[in-house]
Amino acid sequence: MSKRVHANDGISSNGKQALTEAGFKVTSDFVPQDKLAEYINKENVEVLLVRSATKVRKDIIDACPGLKLVGRGGVGMDNIDREYATNRRIRVFNTPASSSISVAELVMAHLFALMRGLHESNRHMPARGQGEFKDLKKTYEKGLELRGKTLGIIGFGRIGQWTARYALGAGMNVIYADNHATAEAIEMEIGGQTVRVAVKMVPLTELLAKSDAVTLHVPAQKDGSPVLGRGELALMKQGAVLVNTARGGSVDEDALLAALENGKLRGVALDVFTNEPTPRADVLAHPKISLTPHIGAATAEAQGRIGSELADIIIEHYAQQSVDA
Ligand code: NAD
Repeated sequence: MSKRVHANDGISSNGKQALTEAGFKVTSDFVPQDKLAEYINKENVEVLLVRSATKVRKDIIDACPGLKLVGRGGVGMDNIDREYATNRRIRVFNTPASSSISVAELVMAHLFALMRGLHESNRHMPARGQGEFKDLKKTYEKGLELRGKTLGIIGFGRIGQWTARYALGAGMNVIYADNHATAEAIEMEIGGQTVRVAVKMVPLTELLAKSDAVTLHVPAQKDGSPVLGRGELALMKQGAVLVNTARGGSVDEDALLAALENGKLRGVALDVFTNEPTPRADVLAHPKISLTPHIGAATAEAQGRIGSELADIIIEHYAQQSVDA
């Protein structure tokens, strides 16, 4: 009988096709969290694939003894009780490299938007664009260029380094802070040539004081604490902008709203929120926040790479099992 793979948050068509051609039966209809364990057991699902929405906690792991693999399409594993699953001989895996470019491009989109007020202007043009065109033009003619500004990258792993490449390409200066990474340079492909560009690691306090724009690319911290709280935001340059595509809890949202209200920050961009999928209303309604609903990895290209990586890992896993048997 075909092994059963269920992708509860979806899977790209190429990933589904690769698995189907390898003899797996793949389903991808969303099953609500409270019905998932029952579904897995009834349908004999051996491989459960999730993105960030579906949680694979102890309750599901305990209730589903037939589960053999849990795959996370993407990077962060904070929606999976990984250690608990591994202790119960469930293999847990992710696809860490597939989405870095897409997240970095979203960061750049938000940075350009924040510098020119695109997020605000887009909200006002439909209702006021005909009657108050000149007033709106006055409001949004105080834009800034990214070229020549300093981008501070907190967390210089895969996404942080891809963001650095795009920012350097846009003519920004790049500095970074990281707990572990100590890259002195990164390689970039430009016009078919590979160039090595020096990058500088600085202490977090120096990064905050020197950066015109700050972007966060750290995982959820083990103790759940924010990387940027009231104290850190106070150290930022007056009129700087901040982008968070890491995790909602990486920035203290109360402190963020206060920094926007007292004029410390020019603008903020958020792709991730503390209380997903129901972010707080005052964050969503704030005119100085550029918003996206956790779509950092949601491009056709990234989902295609994620789908094939998931399929390759699953196919390889079962091929190895039949060799070992
Ligand atoms: P990565 O592991 O390659 O890099 C993370 C870096 O952060 C590491 O170099 C680590 O040393 C550093 N770090 C950890 N804690 C730190 C701290 N307190 N201060 C400074 N540096 C710290 O991970 P990645 O692939 O670059 O992804 C980063 C995060 O981006 C993921 O963990 C995930 O939460 C988030 N993400 C979001 C989306 C989205 O859709 N918005 C998509 C993919 C990933």
